[in-house]
Amino acid sequence: MDIPVPAIVFDQVVKNFGALQVLKGISGHVNSGEVVAIIGSSGCGKSTLLRCFNRLETINSGQLLVNGIDLSHPALAPKQLRQLRANVGMVFQQFNLFPHMTVLENLTLAPRKVLGQSDKESTRLGRFYLDKVGLLPKAEAYPDQLSGGQKQRVAIARSLCMKPKIMLFDEPTSALDPELVGEVLAVMQQLAEEGMTMVVVTHEMQFAREVADRVLFLNQGQVEEEGPARQVLDHPQSDRLRAFLSRMS
Ligand code: ADP
Ligand code: MG
Repeated sequence: MDIPVPAIVFDQVVKNFGALQVLKGISGHVNSGEVVAIIGSSGCGKSTLLRCFNRLETINSGQLLVNGIDLSHPALAPKQLRQLRANVGMVFQQFNLFPHMTVLENLTLAPRKVLGQSDKESTRLGRFYLDKVGLLPKAEAYPDQLSGGQKQRVAIARSLCMKPKIMLFDEPTSALDPELVGEVLAVMQQLAEEGMTMVVVTHEMQFAREVADRVLFLNQGQVEEEGPARQVLDHPQSDRLRAFLSRMS
């Protein structure tokens, strides 16, 4: 049997915003190649936890190790931060594409500026990942010529161009019209099947059930319930999770 390799380990992590304690000593892990869905009510700390994983937030106490980089301390060497950002991709609810650049230019910018890739190499990779998300014909289009679903697929392709080891998704389909949700989830499912390590904050319970290996249910900054996706979603143990799931369906 393969021994699981942790991609992310968090132990007793606390995050405060002023007097407000948002993460209250939260612990868990994400193994390499695993897809973990994070679910829970609005305001329970899902985005904050995800943002700690790529150091958009700094934790107040506890241990946090992401792709071998120790994020437990307030200080982090610039080199380690660069290494972290190169290895951990993030896709948000809002796509944040540069409106004045073509789709392909959006994809090649960071690989050229951050990874030092040549125009030729970044273009080759950009086209490869655009093809992967089914949008090669849109390479020369501008973001405002795309649907929301297409924009989000471009945002995913843009992250992939950095060759991340871990992908974080924060409600990637929440801003989309319902008929566009499926095309984005399909791209994410494909990524999962190819073995990408993924942490997905989502309200798409069907996706969590079918694609995630494990589900973490957060409640007020703590893990209330966690386990294999189907076990957690089909056989909730706590009243809180039962109530949450019945609100979702
Ligand atoms: P979720 O993603 O589960 O909806 P969040 O992690 O965004 O929850 O937020 C958890 C709590 O932390 C909320 O009460 C929110 O208002 C608060 N919060 C999040 N970010 C900040 C911030 N930068 N400053 C102050 N409070 C914040
Ligand atoms: Mg959120």
